[in-house]
Amino acid sequence: MNTLLLHNATLIDGTGADPRPQTSVLVEDGIIRRVASAENIGRPSEGRVIDLAGMTLMPGLTDAHVHFGAVGVNSLTASSPDDNLTTYVISVIENIELALQEGFTTVRDAGGLDPAFARATEEGLIKGPRILPSGSPLSQTGGHGDRRGRYDENPIRSVPGILAAPVLVDGPESVRAAARQQLRLGASQVKVMASGGVMSPIDALESVQFTVDEMQAAVYEAEMAGKYVLAHCHTSPSVNNALAAGVRSIEHGSILDEETAKSIVEHGAFMVPTLLVMEVLAKSAEAGEIPHYSQMKLRQVHTQMPVSVDLAAHAGVSLGSGTDILGARQSGRGAELSLKARVIGPMDAILSATRTNAQLFRMENRIGCVKEGMEADLIAIAGDPLGDIDVLADGDNVRLVIKGGQVYKETI
Ligand SMILES: [Zn+2]
Repeated sequence: MNTLLLHNATLIDGTGADPRPQTSVLVEDGIIRRVASAENIGRPSEGRVIDLAGMTLMPGLTDAHVHFGAVGVNSLTASSPDDNLTTYVISVIENIELALQEGFTTVRDAGGLDPAFARATEEGLIKGPRILPSGSPLSQTGGHGDRRGRYDENPIRSVPGILAAPVLVDGPESVRAAARQQLRLGASQVKVMASGGVMSPIDALESVQFTVDEMQAAVYEAEMAGKYVLAHCHTSPSVNNALAAGVRSIEHGSILDEETAKSIVEHGAFMVPTLLVMEVLAKSAEAGEIPHYSQMKLRQVHTQMPVSVDLAAHAGVSLGSGTDILGARQSGRGAELSLKARVIGPMDAILSATRTNAQLFRMENRIGCVKEGMEADLIAIAGDPLGDIDVLADGDNVRLVIKGGQVYKETI
């Protein structure tokens, strides 16, 4: 048996309970077997003991909106398959490995990452988090996934097994076929673009994309496969369309009204705000690093998103946690929790990135809290995230990372 005792930490268990000082967690063969006071746990006869005095032990963090494949800041994937694919693959692997080193043990890719990377990670060939890939996002012609210049007829092509470019589809039957194809390629859930976006060249942010019928076709196919649909939505009309189609996960929700927030609750859907990317893009905009059209659209959502998070929280919306950060060498992912905490407080920010995301992933019986019988995804933090949530913004403060009982980082 493989035994590991994580000894004498302050435990934030991911259930919302108060932190428990001087607590120990016993891990056996990748599963949490016992959680008890440091005095009562008893030393195992074999295996390792890691002393965590003065540190905070938590469930591994999760990110419901990553784009590991978006290694170019201005594109959802590499700009074209003519780019150096070797460089692309290496950059993607670097993004995956950095996320685990920063304490993220499960992530959902919101489009662009080929599911082959998730399989290679599961096989242990890449030292990364558990990855739930969406594969290619589905977009209408001229929608958020349409990255062509106005007079360019050739969409970015996917490279199967390496690069999952957006697919442009119009009409319910085309959407249905595209959803089936993504599920075939290994998508854990299907991503659709239901509104305009900041980084796309042609569409207005408030444009409403896909008809309810079109999205329903994707929802039906996902549900028949035991899966669900997530939809990129910045505005309330697009959220309402997505909800009417049965979409389960609303991404961004940047400009939300109260009625729509209530409707998310009534539909039993989740919302995944992405505060960090807005901050990062705002800095890029100041430095003139993003195109003019993106700067204009960013202004519409940047200051509005925290207001919408507050409104959603008060309406009782289940708030997941996502970063949406782009580019090569993606880091500082934990800053999403700092930004969220300014609106809903540190404990709720932590819960959104542990318990709520686990529910969204339908993995709440496996991950998201530190309880007997759960998989041993655990991190130790130098500092007290409830007293100072900003400690999570710097990945160097994550001193111990354990996924499935295996130690991937130890800088204690
Ligand atoms: Zn995104």
